[in-house]
Amino acid sequence: MGDTTLETGVLAGDGRMLIGGELQGTASGAVFDVVHPANEQVVGQAVDGTVDDMARAVEAARRAFDGTDWSRDVEFRHHCLSQLHAALENNTERLRRILVTEVGCPVTVTGSQIESPIEEVRHWAAYGRDFDYVVHTGLHDTPMGPARRQLHYEPVGVVGAITPWNVPFYLNIAETMPALMAGNTVVLKPAQLTPWSGTELGRIVAEETDIPAGVFNVVSSNANDVGAALSADPCVDMITFTGSTATGRAVLAAGAPTVKKTLLELGGKSAHVVLEDADFTSALPIAAMMACVMSGQSCVLPSRILLPRSRYDEGLEILKVSMENFPIGDPWTPGIMQGPQISEQQRQKVLELIRSGIESGARLITGGGIPENLPVGYYTEPTLLADVDPDSRVAQEEIFGPVLTVTPYDTEDEAIEIANNTIYGLSGEVSSADVDRALAVAKRIRTGNVSINAKSHFGINSPFGGTGQSGLGYRNGAEGYREYLSIKTIGLPE
Ligand code: NAD
Repeated sequence: MGDTTLETGVLAGDGRMLIGGELQGTASGAVFDVVHPANEQVVGQAVDGTVDDMARAVEAARRAFDGTDWSRDVEFRHHCLSQLHAALENNTERLRRILVTEVGCPVTVTGSQIESPIEEVRHWAAYGRDFDYVVHTGLHDTPMGPARRQLHYEPVGVVGAITPWNVPFYLNIAETMPALMAGNTVVLKPAQLTPWSGTELGRIVAEETDIPAGVFNVVSSNANDVGAALSADPCVDMITFTGSTATGRAVLAAGAPTVKKTLLELGGKSAHVVLEDADFTSALPIAAMMACVMSGQSCVLPSRILLPRSRYDEGLEILKVSMENFPIGDPWTPGIMQGPQISEQQRQKVLELIRSGIESGARLITGGGIPENLPVGYYTEPTLLADVDPDSRVAQEEIFGPVLTVTPYDTEDEAIEIANNTIYGLSGEVSSADVDRALAVAKRIRTGNVSINAKSHFGINSPFGGTGQSGLGYRNGAEGYREYLSIKTIGLPE
């Protein structure tokens, strides 16, 4: 499975698994196809790993955790992650082409999915080296007399990392690097549609770093059973998962018999409350861009726009013009900002939800189908639905497409009530000329993250997590690092 360079720029990744330090296939030799969403062509294969392969990978991770110094030698971990950071930097363009090939995401917008996560490797290496793993809490009165206490932050053990396809390289890094730097060993299971963003990481770890055999493993597979086996394996101490809420529930249930620590980043259905005094000409074109830029395949996308009835038509017109002029097309063409959906199945899911919205009374303002000038590739028109019933499926289910639903409101209280009318709680947005007023609204939205006037809440130094059925726990920030550590409290004599 060597490199295959096609004239479009498509690049096939290394599709081998990494288990116990060896790049390898599965016993039967089975592979599965990887399709480039922009031309619908099979562009290569990845190893179709099995439940047995997963068990071998977990065993290797267990042995590496229990039998090597990895969990205790923070300087060596810093050395290995610094080496990995340099190796990833050397592979930047290769990783970018593999990402565009697998996901169909426009090359123009890959910075946050390639350069940013590579930089995160360096961040976690430094953060983990400087972290205070022993905290002295002083003298405590107890019935048995005074006791000194220390908190020892220790790695959790074997961490299973399961990732989705929408931002695969970023999430493979985000889930595994803090885990490794904290002293855990890892088994990564990348998504079926994007195996190479995981297997390439495995290849680079194996070929270009001193990370010991078994510390980092990658098992690709076309079967959901293999992720399920990882989340149920009694030798796994913790699961870190990003994906849909439905799968997150299954992962949580699979870990219950062994009371596995579980970090979940799940789906979202975020609202954008546009207050009456907002600058529509700034807020709404950005809202339209956010909906289209990753073909809507973003967990944090504020896809439900709530407009004041007094300025409803004005808002709809700005959104319509912005969506109709959005640069959609071949992801390899510089300047293109919206590529295809990742698969025909995903596109059909998006189109079906749009139809369900129209059937439940929504008004189609623009889009709603497949662009006439892009018959090949899984493209979807940027779509604007108005008069959307907040209880309808299209307002309740995650669409994961370039679709905005718009609902009018009369009072601020009503807007907040609609924003909170969801099982999710991942992110949200408030636009207003009055930042204090926007902040007061943001505080009443039940969600883990909110942007005011398009100012980003997201970054490596700030905790990111969902409330409600959008997740459990945090990535990023000090909170995100501590997720991969457990605390041992030790009482000592005065
Ligand atoms: P998915 O839940 O279908 O799959 C995610 C991963 O879980 C894949 O690797 C898949 O193979 C694996 N899997 C499938 N069944 C499993 C099982 N029974 N047990 C264990 N693992 C199993 O999600 P997807 O369609 O790949 O990704 C899209 C979803 O991810 C959206 O809902 C999106 O909102 C969410 N997401 C959330 C965040 C966040 O930070 N909250 C970020 C990105 C994506």
